[in-house]
Amino acid sequence: MTAELAGARAVVTGGAGFVGSHLCDRLREAGADVVCLDNLLTGSPRNLADRREDARFSFRRHDVCEPFDVDGPVDFVFHLASPASPQDYLRHPLATLRAGAFGTFNVLELARRKHARFVLTSTSEVYGDPLIHPQIESYWGNVNPVGPRSAYDEAKRFAEALTAAYRSSQGTDTVILRLFNTYGPRMRARDGRAVPTFIVQARAGEPLTVAGDGSQTRSLCYVDDTVAGILASARAGYPGPINLGNPAELTIAELAGVIRELCGSASPLTFIDRPVDDPGLRRPDISLAGAVLDWKPSVDLEKGLRMTIDWFAAHAEEPEADHR
Ligand code: NAD
Ligand code: UDP
Repeated sequence: MTAELAGARAVVTGGAGFVGSHLCDRLREAGADVVCLDNLLTGSPRNLADRREDARFSFRRHDVCEPFDVDGPVDFVFHLASPASPQDYLRHPLATLRAGAFGTFNVLELARRKHARFVLTSTSEVYGDPLIHPQIESYWGNVNPVGPRSAYDEAKRFAEALTAAYRSSQGTDTVILRLFNTYGPRMRARDGRAVPTFIVQARAGEPLTVAGDGSQTRSLCYVDDTVAGILASARAGYPGPINLGNPAELTIAELAGVIRELCGSASPLTFIDRPVDDPGLRRPDISLAGAVLDWKPSVDLEKGLRMTIDWFAAHAEEPEADHR
């Protein structure tokens, strides 16, 4: 099955967030009408500033944990609503579990009623602290079910199970995506994730806070690439799970060094405590995405970081909303 976006109608939950707002923009550019639902827990209407005068875009402030309906036909439902940065889900563990459970129920119900294709943005965190490397979709993961990250990891694992059950028992057309670390413009300066934290610190000439000895690895994907993969998965018929990420892997100490250099900063690195259950190695195997979506990332780390740093420089004066 291949579905077209032009002329289609899409619902995006979590559309005022970092990835969701880019997805809304790309959907509109592809000719889809977009209804965005977001409770603004970690997102901001500022991310949707480009859509203010757009008659084919609408925003509804709504907590998807509460039942809801959308008038008229819906062709695609993209379910992104969930805190995503470790700092956010550690601060909001119950909201995170509710979004993964009740939220996913309500959003899947909408997709079922509307006969829409449902896209779940799950996460590499379902692999926990992985024992195989790189991570392939057939790996079941190594998650601490009662550790501090479990609110996020298990919420997403439950959301995956629920999505699989709607597919098998209700015939809902679904796809599960496992996004790996994504970065780019519109990340919050103080969301606690490594990329914005290091950029803000380097630009201010403050020490870059590297957790542990910095030897843990991540593989960072520029947001435009991630969103292109999400859209490709919506058009294709494959159910997943499918990894979406950039396999170029580096240590966190290396990442801090690259960001410091690109910012032209003389900030030192300072070493802080490593978070509990922080995964030691993370790199996606993306051969499945290549085979079924004809997708691979195209923005290398230096180019993506330069665009992100430029964006932070241009938006440095904007205050962050108090509620976040
Ligand atoms: P984000 O925090 O910027 O965006 C999440 C959005 O969801 C926010 O706008 C927030 O207000 C909204 N939200 C949260 N709970 C809600 C609820 N109950 N009802 C309605 N809206 C709600 O995070 P992000 O980085 O843009 O992540 C988006 C999605 O992608 C998440 O589902 C996340 O798990 C997934 N993901 C992101 C990454 C990444 O590196 N950014 C990696 C893996 C998975
Ligand atoms: N990290 C760090 N310093 C920071 C923030 C994060 O060293 O100020 C580390 C974190 O411990 C992890 C990696 O950077 O090993 C990626 O963290 P992030 O929160 O960006 O994403 P995660 O992959 O943990 O969800």
